[in-house]
Formats: sequence, structure tokens, C-alpha cells
Amino acid sequence: MSCVFCGGSPVTKEHVFPQWLNQYLPPGRQQTEQARYGAGAYEVTRESVGLDFTVKKVCASCNNGWMSKLETSSKDALEPLIVRQDLDFVPLRQQRQIALWATKTAMMADQTQQKPILPPHQLRRMRTHRAIPGGTRVWLGSCPERNPTVTSHTVRIDLTGVSAPDTLQPVGFFCPMKIGHLCIYVYFPAVDVVIQHAREFHLSVARIWPRRSSDLPFPPPVQPQSGEAFEAFADAFRESLYLYTPAQATEHGIKES
Ligand SMILES: [Zn+2]
Repeated sequence: MSCVFCGGSPVTKEHVFPQWLNQYLPPGRQQTEQARYGAGAYEVTRESVGLDFTVKKVCASCNNGWMSKLETSSKDALEPLIVRQDLDFVPLRQQRQIALWATKTAMMADQTQQKPILPPHQLRRMRTHRAIPGGTRVWLGSCPERNPTVTSHTVRIDLTGVSAPDTLQPVGFFCPMKIGHLCIYVYFPAVDVVIQHAREFHLSVARIWPRRSSDLPFPPPVQPQSGEAFEAFADAFRESLYLYTPAQATEHGIKES
């Protein structure tokens, strides 16, 4: 097994969710959840102290190098949204940092699957250029209930119906995560698509990637009211995503939500 980001070896255990998030967890043992999609799918809930969701596919030099730096430089952007709701807006620079961090974290979540969906070259470009794969969408939302502190899952999306060149796998990957008050939804389509979501989500989620041109008013006025509601909300949001090929979008004058 070589490192998914640089090809180096040996690989060590890397946390899917960084250890600095533990400071927001209640003290003592708590339930953590892991889920996996596809062949060999499982969902387990077990007790642990802190977040111990790990994957053994990253080398020490990536782990202690660029990934550690990315955590350090993302913390200031993320923390206010994790611990508070009395914000006015999220500045542009902060939006880009959050989108980058969320993309890296979703990549790690993808690596816990038996067959990760993201192609290896996208992971390499994340390491070399901190590049967010083309087509990636990141939306932000918020939840008034701070607990559970961290929850996330990954969903494989079947893009059948969106016509794609034969060489491309018609799948996508959706990874919603709730960290304290902050809700993040990351979506990777494997093909070029125009995405619209149902109108009812306009007041609940705001897209921060692809890059916006202005600060984002925050938090959004309509929110899932609890951790449990977040899970259902994330599913409903995913189901509402309507995908068009660029040709279909042009033909029908459809613009991305
Ligand atoms: Zn590496």
C-alpha cells in the first residue's frame, strides 16, 4: 500500500477528522459512528474517547507535512462557525479555506470505502497544488444544536441518465458533515454537470465553491433543528439535486442553483 496523495511508503494511520476537533467534544467516552457504502457496506456505532475514525493510506510525510499545515491554516476559518451562530457573514478568503478543508476531509472519508470514487490524480493535485477537483461543489449551512459534534457519511451517487463519455464512470460522491453548528455538504460529480437543487433549499444552504464573488451572509435563515434533523436534511438535499449535462442546460436555459 502506498500513500494515496504522494505514492510514498510506508503508510501510517491518519484521522479522517483531525484531532483538534476533539476539543469541542464533551469529555469522556462517547458514541461515534462509521458508515461505508457499496460492497461490504456497514454502519457501526461504538464507544470511543475522541474521534478515532482512521484510515491507513497516508504516509507520515504527508500526514505531518502539508496535511498538518492545512489543518493549522484552516482552524481560524472553521472555528467561529463550529462554536457560534451569531455571525453576520463569512468573508471570501474564509470561504475558500473552508471549501479546501472540506474537500480534503471528504477525500479522506472516500478513502475509508472499499472502492474510493475519486480518481487518484485528484488526490495528487490536492497535495501538490491544494487544488479542489474541477466540478466539486461545496455548500454551507448551520444547525442550532451543537451536538452531536461530528457526524458525516458518504453516499455514492448514480449518475445514470446524465449522458457521459464511456470512459468516465457515471458516479458521484456526496459527503455531508456536521461539525458543531457548522454543516458542510461536499459533492463530487465524475462528469461535467450543471446542478440545480429544489427551491426550498435556497434559504438553508449556500454554495461557497465554485468560488463566490462576495462575502456570504451567515448563518442561513432556515436550518435543520437538530443533529438528527441534519441527517434527514442532508438526504433530502441530495435527493433534490437535479443534474443536467452542459448541452441539456444550454438547450433549456438552465442555470446552476
Ligand atoms: Zn504521502
